[in-house]
Amino acid sequence: MVLGGALAGAPLLVHAPHVTLEELREELQRINLDLLELLSRRARVVEQARAVKERDGIPAHVPEREQAMLDALVAANRGPFPDETVRRLFKEIFHASLALLESGRRQTLKVSRASGGSARTVRIGGVTIGGEPVVIAGPCAVEDEAQMDTVGRRLHELGVPLLRGGAFKARSSPYAFQGLGRRGLEILRDTGRRYGLAVVTEVTDTRLVELVAEHADALQIGSRNMHNYELLCEAGRAGKPVLLKRGLAATLEEFLWAAEYVVLQGTEQVVLCERGIRTFETQTRNTLDVSAIALLREQTWLPVIADVSHAAGRKDILPALARAALAAGAQGVMVEVHPCPAVARSDAQQQLDLDEFERLLDATGLRRRNDP
Ligand code: PEP
Ligand code: MN
Repeated sequence: MVLGGALAGAPLLVHAPHVTLEELREELQRINLDLLELLSRRARVVEQARAVKERDGIPAHVPEREQAMLDALVAANRGPFPDETVRRLFKEIFHASLALLESGRRQTLKVSRASGGSARTVRIGGVTIGGEPVVIAGPCAVEDEAQMDTVGRRLHELGVPLLRGGAFKARSSPYAFQGLGRRGLEILRDTGRRYGLAVVTEVTDTRLVELVAEHADALQIGSRNMHNYELLCEAGRAGKPVLLKRGLAATLEEFLWAAEYVVLQGTEQVVLCERGIRTFETQTRNTLDVSAIALLREQTWLPVIADVSHAAGRKDILPALARAALAAGAQGVMVEVHPCPAVARSDAQQQLDLDEFERLLDATGLRRRNDP
């Protein structure tokens, strides 16, 4: 490396007689370039040190070592900078080095377009998610056979291919209806078989993954469990597609990290579901994050759908939200549908009855798309 100016021990121009400001400025810029070269050289050594540390299992950041380096620098300081300035400048350099180490470790996510390429499809039962928009409909909770039969028959007539219904309900209140459990799974599965519908239901616990996977065509991970990393991994290993809902206060980065947990188990069969996030607004249960749909479509190759029912928490704006979601790039819409919402055991206020649901399909153009 060729160093000029002060760093190479060259005589300082400042001592030369008749030095001009222009010359001093040029000298300063030469020193800047020397500093840059030294900093870059230092960074390359840091990267080499990272490789050695990784090989030997030594942590990237050792605070005592940083302290020792700072002490030695301060001891060597002959001015004109005060010790505190030397300390501050070098701390900044150390900080930048640590950031370099950490950015080296942070991989591009597998679920990102940057590493995974173009959009893929997911198969739930015989249904493709990621092509033409699909509809997933059904009650909030499986309540009894008659309820499910009524919904299943109508979905079949309307050409809606995917039936939902909770058997294990993650309810905010421990006193609220918790679902029928195993019996609910059986009713859901039988209804799906009777009407040729693929079925999706939530799994709330690692211990239930196997059971739910035996009964359902896709495992739903609910909003409250998006941060349950054990559950994400277990679901990813179950051999069934995973419908992952966004946490109610999860950033998109966190949502994609959650999806990454599932995909790291060796499956690409993951559907992301935007279901509204908590905001200060009180007129809706949550706020449908339309930007999230557009951003996720840009950032990941996983299909993205929108659950408009849990976003809105009310019925009247569901067609508008479904249209907005589709316009933003959603590849499917989830809607809660109940034969008699007024007596539903959960989420009564947001479930559409079957005629309202049919009108939503017409208002959104989704009925045509689901015609067999
Ligand atoms: C559901 O879809 O049944 C549900 C509980 O939704 P979320 O997890 O999005 O609240
Ligand atoms: Mn619900």
